[in-house]
Amino acid sequence: MSRSQVLIIGGGPAGSSAAYFLAKQGIKVTLLDKDRWPRDKVCGGGLTTNCLPVLEKMDVIEQVEQKADFKYDGYIIHSAEGEQIKAPVRRRAENGPSKQIPYCYVIKRDSFDEILLNKAKKAGANVQTGVEAKRVEEGEPSKVITKDGRAFEADILIVADGSGGPITRHFTKNLHKGSAIAVRGYYSGVKDVGSVIEFFLDDELGFGYGWLFPLGDGRINTGIGLDAAFLKRRKKNVRQVFEEMLEKPQLKERMADAKLEGKLEAFPLRMGFDKGAFRHNRVLFVGDSAKLIYPLSGEGIAYALQSGEIAANTITEVYQTELPDYKKLARYEIECRESFSDFKYATRLQMLMSRPKVQRFFYKNSLYDYDLSQRAIGILEHSSDVSTFFNLRTILKSFVIATKRKLSPNGNQGRGKRVEGSETSENNKAQNEKLEGRT
Ligand SMILES: Cc1cc2nc3c(=O)[nH]c(=O)nc-3n(C[C@H](O)[C@H](O)[C@H](O)COP(=O)(O)OP(=O)(O)OC[C@H]3O[C@@H](n4cnc5c(N)ncnc54)[C@H](O)[C@@H]3O)c2cc1C
Repeated sequence: MSRSQVLIIGGGPAGSSAAYFLAKQGIKVTLLDKDRWPRDKVCGGGLTTNCLPVLEKMDVIEQVEQKADFKYDGYIIHSAEGEQIKAPVRRRAENGPSKQIPYCYVIKRDSFDEILLNKAKKAGANVQTGVEAKRVEEGEPSKVITKDGRAFEADILIVADGSGGPITRHFTKNLHKGSAIAVRGYYSGVKDVGSVIEFFLDDELGFGYGWLFPLGDGRINTGIGLDAAFLKRRKKNVRQVFEEMLEKPQLKERMADAKLEGKLEAFPLRMGFDKGAFRHNRVLFVGDSAKLIYPLSGEGIAYALQSGEIAANTITEVYQTELPDYKKLARYEIECRESFSDFKYATRLQMLMSRPKVQRFFYKNSLYDYDLSQRAIGILEHSSDVSTFFNLRTILKSFVIATKRKLSPNGNQGRGKRVEGSETSENNKAQNEKLEGRT
């Protein structure tokens, strides 16, 4: 029987960040992961600037930079009708003044996760890979039994086994509620791949989207993610919808000579933060286990890293007194609800945007107005404050833009047309030209 202060199940970004910050504080922590490492994970591997603060604290930025497959410097969102909104990479002010970089990374998860896990190991965590947790016996201490029959005990358990892990399932009854599904593949021979990462909207995806992330070696990581209930209503499977997506005008020409490398792989995404569990007695849930996937973008790595750090900080407080004060674990849920408070606005906006008419209204206004277009793209990297989309000023502004658009001779006519000569359109044009120069 192995005994530690903290036992972590799962060595993805959430588990590794928790293990690193705990080990740094001298807390006896064991981490188990079922796979032999390095292991891949079905993912886009797109890091946003949102990940940087925790990666900087873990002192792994240089390694990530070295191992990254690709550095992107901007975003393009393609509408169902072939229009485009573009913006450069930005860094949200509260993500710290340190190291301003005008780009971020696409990195395969076998490399990225290995960097993080090794860092946790070096900090002193007892990391055991190839050890699969099978079941948990709740109690104080908690006991986890592995597939090979071993027992691991700990005062505090951190569940980081991702979207479909058995320990999350043990504690969560409605596992699939509020979930999405994504599929991804690697392709070579794709035309017109630039220095930006691209997103595709389409009615067939509801408020899901398709992505195209370059890998820098002539290959791309591409896929789609969409709401599981929406997909069920369409009576299609996710691979079918993806293959149909490749035939759409925005992609057909570019994918004409593309070759699938390996196979398409699908994986669930646990969304629905509001209903997520953060704590159960002395058990804390982090990353996907806590449904911390941003509803508007499907981004999960940043929140996995952040929740891992919050869990570690909370546990560190528990051990500040001579006798551990487990009541302090209640702070974890409070901290998470504060740190991720905009998830609830994002969920509301997602529900609104799942209506194609609303999505089009928003998209067309964004094409027309520089400020709105940049805020819309800011959703992707979380540099926009989502709650402001619900304030009266934004709502009124949207209707003013829509009216101007209708009255303008150019406004509604074509793909991406804007009012020429206005300050906003000039800004937008300059930005687009800057990005076009890069692509
Ligand atoms: C197709 C797809 C594309 C995505 N693209 C992006 C993207 O571009 N950017 C982004 O930010 N997010 C993306 N996401 C979301 C992102 O992958 C997750 O949010 C992120 O991996 C969550 O990290 P985690 O540590 O919580 O879980 P995971 O990364 O899933 O790690 C869980 C770990 O637990 C281990 N484990 C599972 N069961 C057991 C067990 N029984 N015993 C021991 N160990 C176990 C697994 O081996 C794994 O290592 C994507 C998701 C999908 C499905």
